[in-house]
Amino acid sequence: MKIMESVELRGCSIDELIEICQEIGLKRFRATQLFQWAQQKAVRTWDQMKTVGEGDRQTLSSHLHLYPLERIREQRSQDGTRKYLFRLNDGETIECVLMDYARTISRDRHTVCVSTQVGCAVGCAFCATGLEGFRRNLSVAEIVGQVLDITHYVRQEDPDFQVTNIVFMGMGEPLLNYDQVLKGIQLLNHGQGQAIGMRRMTISTCGVVPKIIQLAKDNPQVGLAVSLHAAQDEVRNDLIPMNRRYPLAQLMEACQEYSQITHRRITFEVALTSKNARRGEAEALARLLKGQLGHVNLIPVNPVEGTGMERPDIEQIKRFAQVLENAGIPVSSREERGGDIDAACGQLRRKWEGEL
Ligand code: SAH
Ligand code: SF4
Repeated sequence: MKIMESVELRGCSIDELIEICQEIGLKRFRATQLFQWAQQKAVRTWDQMKTVGEGDRQTLSSHLHLYPLERIREQRSQDGTRKYLFRLNDGETIECVLMDYARTISRDRHTVCVSTQVGCAVGCAFCATGLEGFRRNLSVAEIVGQVLDITHYVRQEDPDFQVTNIVFMGMGEPLLNYDQVLKGIQLLNHGQGQAIGMRRMTISTCGVVPKIIQLAKDNPQVGLAVSLHAAQDEVRNDLIPMNRRYPLAQLMEACQEYSQITHRRITFEVALTSKNARRGEAEALARLLKGQLGHVNLIPVNPVEGTGMERPDIEQIKRFAQVLENAGIPVSSREERGGDIDAACGQLRRKWEGEL
């Protein structure tokens, strides 16, 4: 690998670090040490790398960037959800959410909801991130960095803290930043790093068909969630503009192919509003998913200002779920998390930018 200005330590595999060490005249074993400091111990500065001598740290820091994410906001919810607003090196901001974190709630499952882009080009009708438009893709280092920096901040209070699960459900469309997301997954999975199991990571997509098929072929063993939200093209076109490019027939065919290749169940996300939580919609969904390996996760929509979406009542959700259950489709409903801290995707950043 040619050493270039833009190489970020947190985005490098051990093999890449070995190459870099060789090129700049450092011993090969430094590469593993560096990887462990960056990925496992989640250090944020060169001088924290105690096993690397000062001379070598100097050399390394003139060839590799280490940009920790700067926490500019943190909100804590009653239910153990923490929401972070991070500033990136170029001044852009992203959100990141830690779920299930409270000593009283769970000691063995801590999920981080990771962003993959600054903004999003898809522009879904209910999504705060979509309303703001697309700024840029995140680098591998920035994707992994969210997990590392949350780990760093929580460890200040709880030294044994460890992230156990990742969902790529923050800002942005992960399959439109495919290569970086996949490399980020490999780094987070590495035994010398965070060692998060592949099956404990889930990618969520609005339906980028060619990339779903590529993911099936690359088959990294991560989970796949498809944001379906509607079972009829005329409804879905208005909610998710990507549907005009890859309509439901193509999307479902890609899901079938994904299941055939990977033998994995897909989670179909369905955000319910007071308008779409109707019997007819539930029946259309049941017809669409007949024979598909997967289950439906119902989410009451998080109302975002300017979208006009309203949350359905709990009875509507129960009736909707019943129609699916009667049709033999496994269904769960996502408990609401962090409702008191603007936890809907993109909401915190929007609010904060409004304060500038
Ligand atoms: N771009 C990807 C992943 C990020 S969005 C995707 O669309 O799947 C993660 C999930 O949050 C998606 O299922 C998305 O549809 C959902 N979402 C976005 N805004 C929401 C809102 N206001 N209420 C409920 N779910 C929302
Ligand atoms: Fe983008 Fe997902 Fe939001 Fe749609 S829901 S605008 S795809 S982040």
